[in-house]
Amino acid sequence: MQISSPLRLELDKSALMANWQSLNRMTAGNCGAAIKANGYGLGAERVRHYLAQAGCRDFFVASWDEARLLDSSEKDFSLSVLHGLREEDLGYALTSSVKPVLCSPTMIARWKSYAPDRPCDVMVDTGMNRLGLSMEEAGSGLLDGLQIENLLSHLACADEIDHLLNQIQLDRFRILAARKQAKRYSLANSAGIFLDKAYHFDLARPGLALYGGLPVEKAEGVLKQVVGISAQAIQVREVEAGEGIGYGVCFTAPRKMRIAILHVGYADGYWRAFFEKGQAVKDGVVCPLAGRVSMDMITVALPDGLTAGEGDWFSVDFTLPSAAQQTGLSQYELLTGLGHRYQSVWQTV
Ligand SMILES: *Cc1c(COP(=O)(O)O)cnc(C)c1O
Repeated sequence: MQISSPLRLELDKSALMANWQSLNRMTAGNCGAAIKANGYGLGAERVRHYLAQAGCRDFFVASWDEARLLDSSEKDFSLSVLHGLREEDLGYALTSSVKPVLCSPTMIARWKSYAPDRPCDVMVDTGMNRLGLSMEEAGSGLLDGLQIENLLSHLACADEIDHLLNQIQLDRFRILAARKQAKRYSLANSAGIFLDKAYHFDLARPGLALYGGLPVEKAEGVLKQVVGISAQAIQVREVEAGEGIGYGVCFTAPRKMRIAILHVGYADGYWRAFFEKGQAVKDGVVCPLAGRVSMDMITVALPDGLTAGEGDWFSVDFTLPSAAQQTGLSQYELLTGLGHRYQSVWQTV
């Protein structure tokens, strides 16, 4: 028997598609998508489906585990595994059309010995010191003989428009691109797309921006919020003036007031950091958080005149830029932290 969940993730298909289309226009038709971490918490399968519908052809996940859930015989799409290829991935990798993004000399040797003729991607480090071959390794002949589709590098500071490292990474990437060892060159993540078109090359790899996160301030107005949280009221009650609410009784009712207990908590990625800052909305009326966030519940104050009862639905504000400001968490953490208790509802009109 199906039981409807008291907690919903409301996902906006047209906003997701519009975000990709905006980024695709900005990059002159060269936009892929990072759909790792289960599509940043939204559901990788659906996200890929809708982005493909919008026209996206190049997808990136972190691991072969993630790839396996999306792998299909679709030859139309390119799917790449950003973390490369371990020995234990070979069994699966060699039967699949998914490509590894080779990041180290060991991985390259592995690919050359098992699948020398098959296409792959390569990551080169241009200053972040995370994944990738060094510039020296990339220029040493190590890449000779590989069928490289995409040569990638990743920007460390693209969200800081004036950071000196951006130009340094760009200069190094241009050196790589001039060697023409790969079919396509890919540098920009979401924030990189907004830096300048010099960073776009042949393929951009946005994640955050697709899902409505604002990588930089000037993305405001370009990108649409994709995710909304709706939670049902479990109970509505009155609290006398001077009474405390919730764990630690951290909120004291200044006067007689009504509150609603909603079915969402920190186990759902609605973090304790929303204390004194979060809010829910019902019938257009703002209901501020009153008291601490519990594991499975929050308490909100009901303004006078608002009708609310058990079972009523509230929108819990999860506007990414402001939620990040309120909590001190990144928009990335907020999205990927959303937890597993939501019923995902894609609005498809
Ligand atoms: C996660 C990731 C992206 C996407 O980054 P956003 O900042 O979310 O746009 C692109 N490239 C690589 C290598 C990544 O790891």
